[in-house]
Amino acid sequence: MLFDNRSDEYLAATKPHNSATTQHPARVAVISTPADLPAALEDVAALERTSGRKYEVAIQATGHGAGAVIDDNVVLFDTSRLDGVTIDPQTRIATVGAGATWGSVNAAAERYGLLGLAGSAPTVSVSGYTFAGGIGWLVRRDGLASGSLRRVHYIDGGGRFRIAADDATEEVDRDAIWAFRGAGGVGIAHTLEFDLAPVENLHAGMLLWHGSSLSELVTAWKRGIALVGPSVSTSLAVMHVPPVPPFPEELYGSVAIHLAIADPDGQAGAAPLLDAMRAVATPVADTWGPTDAVGLARIHLDPPGASPAVGDARWLDAHAPEVAERLMEAAAADGSPLVMVEIRHVAGAPTRRDGAVVAPPGAFIYHAVGSLILAERDRIDAGLEALKVTWADADTGVIPGSWLESAAIAPSTLRDDVLTRARSIADEIDPDRRIHRSRLLGSPGE
Ligand SMILES: Cc1cc2nc3c(=O)[nH]c(=O)nc-3n(C[C@H](O)[C@H](O)[C@H](O)COP(=O)(O)OP(=O)(O)OC[C@H]3O[C@@H](n4cnc5c(N)ncnc54)[C@H](O)[C@@H]3O)c2cc1C
Repeated sequence: MLFDNRSDEYLAATKPHNSATTQHPARVAVISTPADLPAALEDVAALERTSGRKYEVAIQATGHGAGAVIDDNVVLFDTSRLDGVTIDPQTRIATVGAGATWGSVNAAAERYGLLGLAGSAPTVSVSGYTFAGGIGWLVRRDGLASGSLRRVHYIDGGGRFRIAADDATEEVDRDAIWAFRGAGGVGIAHTLEFDLAPVENLHAGMLLWHGSSLSELVTAWKRGIALVGPSVSTSLAVMHVPPVPPFPEELYGSVAIHLAIADPDGQAGAAPLLDAMRAVATPVADTWGPTDAVGLARIHLDPPGASPAVGDARWLDAHAPEVAERLMEAAAADGSPLVMVEIRHVAGAPTRRDGAVVAPPGAFIYHAVGSLILAERDRIDAGLEALKVTWADADTGVIPGSWLESAAIAPSTLRDDVLTRARSIADEIDPDRRIHRSRLLGSPGE
């Protein structure tokens, strides 16, 4: 059954977490079970027959990755109700519905001392994040989330059920799992199987300082990250602090330096960095300590509700520490239209499996975000453009596929050979192009 714009189902499905773009699909299909997928494709075919028009199918679990044009040429498949989560503590494998969020997966996994390779926000779904690479707080020890993906149960453009796996009988399904690991996905997934990581001594936290110590803190961060343990991940950010909790009141409306830091292997590895930065200036907030999945999901201070974000991101090479101060100074400037500018340290992340993007193309990531609530799109775009000169010397030229808020396409995420192969796999799985290509595979104009 397809829902039109007078229904509650339509209204709920067209409220993406990233509300920078509005969505006006021709119809919405609510997918509650795997069997609903081929049935919904049939419904789309019936709509095409009666209307004499062609429709593309776009998939949305949470809309954190919203940005593609969703207009009356599109039927939107809302997969958020595919939210089942099963954890096998013996094999350390999670089997989850394609709409499951990291918050629900990790709440279940941590009962067994395990976690999935979640990113900063618990409301993100496993699917879009993992299919686009997925960079989380365990990345330096356990790699990208795409490398933890074992199998994807999916349908192709003809509505046939298939299983993408390395040991699949048919080559197309062996190719499909390669593409699901970082090329944004091919086909429509309904169930994912992936590895969980043992996390028995998780420590994490966030520290906030007044922006007045920016230069000294960046210097201490540069010194500290060279000394931390191999499983310590960090994000160093400049924030223009909004006047809302959980930010401390004394920082409301000012520039703050933010460190998010996590180590699944205890507290010792982070000490050199924490000691160096605390010695420079006393933090206004400091939550470092033993924690759980909920605590881990708080350290990045992401807004909990829908927000109209516009962003930019790039993999940076080992020169990132050299450009950090200039970047952070520019981000802290009065009147900046960007609310957050960060550098993440992800060096040494291992590669677990073969796939389109399973190894970080750089040791660091630059990521910047503006909010349309606070600034016009033109100003945010100009702010992002102006920052480029500050990180250009560390640029790898590669975009982290998961992290490009409100982008319609992001093809420069993939190396040319990877893009060519992934596009040809998508064409084989969906020769009639019934399914909207992931933004990583899209071409300008799509
Ligand atoms: C607050 C916030 C924090 C974030 N933190 C991180 C982070 O720490 N690390 C990181 O790497 N990224 C992070 N991201 C980026 C995030 O990974 C992407 O936005 C991702 O696309 C979200 O996936 P989703 O499924 O929740 O989103 P959706 O918008 O629902 O889906 C995004 C895309 O995934 C594909 N997709 C989704 N479901 C299916 C399916 N069933 N079958 C086939 N394709 C499907 C589709 O192409 C869809 O357009 C963050 C984003 C936000 C807004």
